[in-house]
Amino acid sequence: MEGYLGIDIGSVSTNFAILDKECNILDTLYLRTKGNPTQVVKKGFSILKTRLKSDCRIKGAGTTGSARRLIGKLVGADLIKNEITSHAVAALHFYPDTCTVLEIGGQDSKLIIIRDGIVVDFAMNTVCAAGTGSFLDHQAERLSIPIEKFGELALGAKSKVNIASKCTVFAESDMIHKAQLGVPTENIIRGLCEGIVRNYLNNLSRGKRIQPRIVFQGGVAYNVGVKAAFEEVLDSEVTVPGHAGIMGAIGVSLLIKDLVENKGKGKKGGFIGMEIQEMEFETKVFECKGCPNICEIVQIERDGKLIDRYGYRCDRWELLKTKDKFNKGHD
Ligand code: SF4
Repeated sequence: MEGYLGIDIGSVSTNFAILDKECNILDTLYLRTKGNPTQVVKKGFSILKTRLKSDCRIKGAGTTGSARRLIGKLVGADLIKNEITSHAVAALHFYPDTCTVLEIGGQDSKLIIIRDGIVVDFAMNTVCAAGTGSFLDHQAERLSIPIEKFGELALGAKSKVNIASKCTVFAESDMIHKAQLGVPTENIIRGLCEGIVRNYLNNLSRGKRIQPRIVFQGGVAYNVGVKAAFEEVLDSEVTVPGHAGIMGAIGVSLLIKDLVENKGKGKKGGFIGMEIQEMEFETKVFECKGCPNICEIVQIERDGKLIDRYGYRCDRWELLKTKDKFNKGHD
């Protein structure tokens, strides 16, 4: 049996998806990144290895997400792809008529506009936490309510209440104020779900036409309160895929499968396999003082060997890499 592995390494979670050649999902895994993408991938591989059937051979691997380049180089990925493409590919695979993808993850959010199966526009928010999952996590913690219950509670709200959701600090003080006024908790939670939607649309939708079919992805898509808030404000049905939280990983595994099968580029087998527990990875960060740009260079080594370096704005380090002089001082 052949498998195609997609890894989506985000700042909050790292997701794995393995597809077979008929695009059936063989396995998926969600782990918290906890600030250490290398360790979480090692852990993920050790779990997946024990669950994969012995006759399953990974024919290609791809990475996406904010640490895609680092992990892609470490594991020898055959493809390193941005999140916009990966999410769009996954949405179109399950819903070929997709025109809009709303994606809200732990610490960023994206809006992707698709027409006739092609991405024509997109926007990303990586700066403002108030339009992301961490905003809701924070408020759930503040209210001592499990985040998993947020959606159902929001749907049980009897009336609307506006919660200032421009940032977590405003939201907290407004929540306290509304609770002191006697507003029921469900109404406050509904207000928070509507707040995240308002914030998302204010940040990302300017100048963009959100048309159905609208597919909602990312971990926050499981929150039925946020889905309902989107449906109300957009006046349209919103589709949440069964694997909403791992669509990035599914997207990149679909892409790697296509690459290996149809273009044959993965056949050289860059992927180093699941046996990475014993390998030593090291990431060094240093400043190049070759000119006033002072680029921050990231250098990745596996078992003491340079496997990649990036962050430079000229070809200085590219040339040095070619000449294998990378250890001659980081000046
Ligand atoms: S990498 Fe190039 S652009 Fe960046 S600081 Fe060094 S010499 Fe300047």
